[in-house]
Amino acid sequence: MVKLLRRLSAVIAIFIALAMPVSAQSGDITYTIQVGDTLSEIALKYNVTIAELAAYNGITNPDLIFAGRTLAVPADNTALPAEVAPQTYTVQPGDTLGTIAARFGMRTNRLAQENNIANINLIEVGQVLVIPGTQPTPVSYPLPAPFESITLSHNPIAQGKTLLVSVTLNTTATLTADFETRPVALSGNDGRHYWGVVGIHALSEVGLYSLAFRATLPDGTETSVAQDVVVSAGDYATETIIPQPGREGLLAPDVIKAEAEKLAALWMQATPEKQWQGAFLYPIANPHITSYFGTRRSYGGGPVNGYHAGSDFAGNGVPIYAPAAGTVVLAEKLNVRGNAVLIDHGLGVYTGYWHQSQSVVKVGDRLEPGDLIGYTGNTGLVTGPHLHWEMRIGGIAVDPIQWITETIEPNSGE
Ligand SMILES: [Zn+2]
Repeated sequence: MVKLLRRLSAVIAIFIALAMPVSAQSGDITYTIQVGDTLSEIALKYNVTIAELAAYNGITNPDLIFAGRTLAVPADNTALPAEVAPQTYTVQPGDTLGTIAARFGMRTNRLAQENNIANINLIEVGQVLVIPGTQPTPVSYPLPAPFESITLSHNPIAQGKTLLVSVTLNTTATLTADFETRPVALSGNDGRHYWGVVGIHALSEVGLYSLAFRATLPDGTETSVAQDVVVSAGDYATETIIPQPGREGLLAPDVIKAEAEKLAALWMQATPEKQWQGAFLYPIANPHITSYFGTRRSYGGGPVNGYHAGSDFAGNGVPIYAPAAGTVVLAEKLNVRGNAVLIDHGLGVYTGYWHQSQSVVKVGDRLEPGDLIGYTGNTGLVTGPHLHWEMRIGGIAVDPIQWITETIEPNSGE
């Protein structure tokens, strides 16, 4: 028998409050799908394979099931084996619950629940985990109206990268999106084509995450879809930062905190219109990057518990140019970041330019790509002159270089 088993695909959708009756035969068991069910769990419960359950119910994509939908389960199924029996896994050095869950195509939270693990960060090498049996077979199944299509630029998406999300509806509706618990700013001028960008935190645990969409029709009807996003490990180096004697004590923690809060209050806002067009430019001519975004950092040889939130460019007194169109929302001297400029590119996307010797822009200036922002320097808490270039999306620091190597915007016409 051909094994249809494949790893959990990237897509699991649960549609709320949509019932699609199926033509069950007499003698069948009927099961109404509950919020949070997966087809694999239902198949396991009734001792049928996912493929059989899907075929019996005319489901072409077992990853897409609807809460409220009724499934028919053949009554005489006792002889049918499950595709994969529950198994155990012994935790190896370097494992996290997220990597183990991803390996078996499950949600980290579910694996934790199955094993009564309250704190997902507390697993030990040698610990034996129970892996529930069977996984869905990915094929395709139509989305519930008004959803016509959901497109992700990358899936899996690596830690610290930007995900472009596009949604097409078959009728005009209001759409909102959340990545886990964070709202995603969406642009959708015509009410049918929506898109937005999601920043994946550089230290996100590897595993499955949920991107939830909710469409509200003019009559108030709501339909929700959840799209799974697989976060994979970023390819980041590790560096050791040796604190300069005396430097770390220069500023009181409340000064550092106040500065961070001031910036967060700006970059947590999403202005509704995209200002950038096409790929970003480097902010410096002949760029020489001395430290890449995402580099894991150990301070003074201690544990690796931080990461570099931007890309550093070498240079002293070197001109800094706007990499894309945007509006200056901060231009002032800060304690930690020195002479700093923050540019709003719209839809929750911001870029920051720290440690300048001098800035030449002011709040409210609208910049075009290539406009002069200022000059590199060593203001603020730095060990030498450089530009620290930072990008934030919805407050999450992401790799700005990705925005140079890729065009992150929907195809023209959308
Ligand atoms: Zn830096």
